[in-house]
Amino acid sequence: MRVPLIAGNWKMNTTVTDAVNLVKEMRDDLEKIPDVDKVICPPFVSLAPLKELVAGSTIKLGAQNLYFAEKGAYTGEISPLMLADLCEYVIIGHSERRQYFGESGDIVNKKVVSALKAGLIPILCIGEKLAENEAGKTEEVVTRQLNAALENIDDSDGLILAYEPVWAIGTGRAATGKQANETIAIIRNCISRIYDRRVSREIRILYGGSVTAANTAEFMNQPDIDGALVGGASLKAAEFISIVAQASTTK
Ligand code: PEP
Repeated sequence: MRVPLIAGNWKMNTTVTDAVNLVKEMRDDLEKIPDVDKVICPPFVSLAPLKELVAGSTIKLGAQNLYFAEKGAYTGEISPLMLADLCEYVIIGHSERRQYFGESGDIVNKKVVSALKAGLIPILCIGEKLAENEAGKTEEVVTRQLNAALENIDDSDGLILAYEPVWAIGTGRAATGKQANETIAIIRNCISRIYDRRVSREIRILYGGSVTAANTAEFMNQPDIDGALVGGASLKAAEFISIVAQASTTK
């Protein structure tokens, strides 16, 4: 049994004050929802204050990125050791990082290695662009991204994957449940080839891309989809609570 997981990616939104208020608004309702893992990924600067707010609750925190070195002269960067003090999860390889910050498969691999070493749970994002999708290259792209990200990682324990077609992120144009499930089944097969069947059965794979309260059930009803990585809709308290509640009841 894979426990469903909903992660909210707040991206570069919310001041510390906004972040604290948003968590206060959601905390009690989220806390009442059973049988689903709840993760909030605010900007780095809000991790410390939110850690105090969610202490002792079932709400867990994640970062949106990290640098792969443990420490040193990397002005402006945040290391896995710093994060391990503040949160349990970290998003790695988000398409916005790949697109705007030039993150290659090699960099993503280094980040996954360093996160696992620090005891963080990576939420590794993969997904094809619109042109790749239209050219029928989805399988080729996700396979290439997975092979690169997981190179020389023998112990994938705890790793979480998020299939996020780039054309669906922030566009309001979500994949259909069926489309997402088909690609996620391909990803599971790929994991089976990289590791083995046990890992492919146990690993949690989320869908991300314009998930809302209105389409959550469509994704959660699919056999291979274990939850969602939610961007825009995770910034609206009532909507995020509804998404988490639906994940709890549809799995
Ligand atoms: C995301 O940020 O990973 C994402 C899926 O965004 P949105 O839900 O806004 O499409």
